[in-house]
Amino acid sequence: GARPDFSGASVRHLTFAYGEEEILHDLSADFAPGEIVAVTGRSGSGKSTLLKLIMRFWQAPERTVRVSGLDIGEIETDHLRKLESYMVQDTDLFATSVRENIRIGRVDASDAEVEEAAKKASIHDFIMTLPRGYESKIEELGDNLSGGQRQRIGLARAFLHGAPLLLLDEPTSNLDSLNEGAILKALEEEAKASGRTLVLVSHRKSTLAIADRSYSIESGRLS
Ligand code: ATP
Ligand code: MG
Repeated sequence: GARPDFSGASVRHLTFAYGEEEILHDLSADFAPGEIVAVTGRSGSGKSTLLKLIMRFWQAPERTVRVSGLDIGEIETDHLRKLESYMVQDTDLFATSVRENIRIGRVDASDAEVEEAAKKASIHDFIMTLPRGYESKIEELGDNLSGGQRQRIGLARAFLHGAPLLLLDEPTSNLDSLNEGAILKALEEEAKASGRTLVLVSHRKSTLAIADRSYSIESGRLS
């Protein structure tokens, strides 16, 4: 499908608490078109929470999160899902074929587009070693999929989705350095060639190296 216009996203003076416990405090950040932005911070500092607020999985206070010029609370859900895609820390796979697992969120995608996304995510070669290739059922593979393979299927999904703002939570945490290098290169090319904005939550220096800008969350604040 055609990619919707995207003029960037921003967070302004965002404070957020789960119940009593304040997680993010007066936080501001910018995500410009085509930019790779890294978000770091210790475990529990609120990195995933920030991504979930930008995805509107949690409701941010009014006028604190803007996506493509609009307050996030005012954006139609269908439109927001076209503007943004999100890769979670632990990829959920469904009891269907590998192909359909990648195609979730882009059901109109052709087989060629699915394979192109899988190549970018460095999982195509592995899929081709399976007896039934892309038609292999996840439930049949079961425990035979490693954490890194599941993660790369999640990445293929995110590449295929095609939204202009791509939020990736620890996209390479389960990968060895060879696969990580290939994926970082693919992400960098994706940002440069197609102008997608990438927000990468990661602790890794290798990820920071491809970022145009990086933020660190400390005690709920960015630095
Ligand atoms: P990690 O690097 O371990 O993934 P993180 O920086 O992504 O950590 P978050 O998952 O955003 O951290 O969590 C920030 C804080 O909010 C933690 O103290 C966590 O326990 C708390 N938290 C996260 N999700 C919820 C929730 N749904 N309800 C209540 N508290 C939560
Ligand atoms: Mg997290």
